[in-house]
Amino acid sequence: MSKQYDFHTQVSADYRAQVVVCGGGTAGAVAAIAAAREGAEVLIIEPFGKLGGSATLSLVTPLMTVGITDNPMNSSISDEINRRAIEGGFSARQGVNPGYFDPQMMAFLLEEMAVEAGVKILYYTTPIKVIKEDGRITAIIVRDKAGLHAVEGDMFIDCTGDGDLSVMAGAEYTKGNPKTGKNQPISLRYILGGVDRKAFAETVTDNSISYDGPFSYSACVKLDGEREVEKIMTKALKAGDLTVEDLSYWQVFGIPGRDDCLAFNCPEFFEHVDGTDPAHLTETQILGKKAILRQLAFYKKYFKGFDNAYVSDVSAMVGIRESREIVTEQIMTFMEAAAYRKFDDSVAQTNYPIDVHGMGDEYTCETVKSQAVNEKPFYEIPYGSLVVKGTDNLLVAGRCIGCDFLVQASIRIQPTCRATGEAAGIAAVMALKKGCLPREIDGRDVRARMIENGAVFAEK
Ligand SMILES: Cc1cc2nc3c(=O)[nH]c(=O)nc-3n(C[C@H](O)[C@H](O)[C@H](O)COP(=O)(O)OP(=O)(O)OC[C@H]3O[C@@H](n4cnc5c(N)ncnc54)[C@H](O)[C@@H]3O)c2cc1C
Repeated sequence: MSKQYDFHTQVSADYRAQVVVCGGGTAGAVAAIAAAREGAEVLIIEPFGKLGGSATLSLVTPLMTVGITDNPMNSSISDEINRRAIEGGFSARQGVNPGYFDPQMMAFLLEEMAVEAGVKILYYTTPIKVIKEDGRITAIIVRDKAGLHAVEGDMFIDCTGDGDLSVMAGAEYTKGNPKTGKNQPISLRYILGGVDRKAFAETVTDNSISYDGPFSYSACVKLDGEREVEKIMTKALKAGDLTVEDLSYWQVFGIPGRDDCLAFNCPEFFEHVDGTDPAHLTETQILGKKAILRQLAFYKKYFKGFDNAYVSDVSAMVGIRESREIVTEQIMTFMEAAAYRKFDDSVAQTNYPIDVHGMGDEYTCETVKSQAVNEKPFYEIPYGSLVVKGTDNLLVAGRCIGCDFLVQASIRIQPTCRATGEAAGIAAVMALKKGCLPREIDGRDVRARMIENGAVFAEK
């Protein structure tokens, strides 16, 4: 065992807010905006220098659709983000999907909306300890360039993606695939600039890469596949220009407003995938950057359109699909999702597939359909999945809410994370106003308030 050090230090309470949101990502930005619009003083603690989390720091675009007719936005703030992004010229609709967007510009918009709502942002700030008294969090000790500070609050919302705040507060959690113990694969996404996208598409004449406009541009390939782009990749593998890992999962999207750019949903890693292990995160950055340069050389050699291509962006934050699922008052299970379970107090609805990368087709959308006992083809997330068990004034939103591994593989998409963020922000303020605990709030009131604010829920 390495030498142990004990440090005791006095920390002054330099910050205070009624609602403290930990993590300013996909769910966190929306939670903070929602709580501020409900009238609370709100503070976000964010270790990086921009809002948006996976959507901006991990370059995850576009929004996936929830797979319900007309793709209803269960969050009015999500709807507003989509609308303002389109008006700003950096997002576009494709069919019912309003969310092909430029990750860089999304960070500008989220910050603008948070500041407009009166949210106080603490960038470059990391929580290191939770102070809990009588079951309540009274303060979070944070570290920044100036040292240590205490951030006091009445209500806390964990939007760290990994449930870090809940774990610091003593919450229980599950983690990874119960069969293998492993988390979902992780990725280091990147954007190339200087690409002639039309020329690229024309290289692949069988339409396995389609170019039909400024943003609609995607392909997902597999090794030894039949499609032309897959054959080109297999050829490159045999020539030693790519590795098997490069081709395990490869996907590309156009970016509205950046016509010479392509956003790549790769390289993906299947072995060291624990998003809460700094060694895994560091390894992904180092191996991922090597893979990105190898892939760039491959595009230049095998496709037209990449002569002037360069690496424009690499994810500052490793793309984590799944790490911890926090134990909450209610825990959504695969069988409930499969039965298209509905709840009176639901705060989000989805029919996005159980999308476990690298697991094969064992749990697909079709599996869900075949289990369905409720005729409307979607399931719902109850409010109780956001109420962290064991801490009185703590909610959780985003990809680490209370659910099992398979449900997490469906609820992780951005529209759903935004909806749980909005619900948590509204619930925190409701609890403050009523002078009660989040677990004493009736989730039906949260849902009603979301709808009053403009959230759209499909009829059930
Ligand atoms: C590679 C990849 C591809 C994906 N593809 C799609 C897709 O095409 N479409 C789609 O809709 N979804 C996609 N997803 C899923 C989706 O993007 C994420 O699940 C979702 O954005 C997570 O939102 P979140 O708010 O839970 O976490 P995040 O958006 O990741 O936000 C977490 C925030 O918390 C901060 N944070 C972390 N730790 C701490 C801490 N200890 N204290 C304080 N702050 C902390 C982070 O800096 C970050 O800002 C993809 C995910 C990945 C990884």
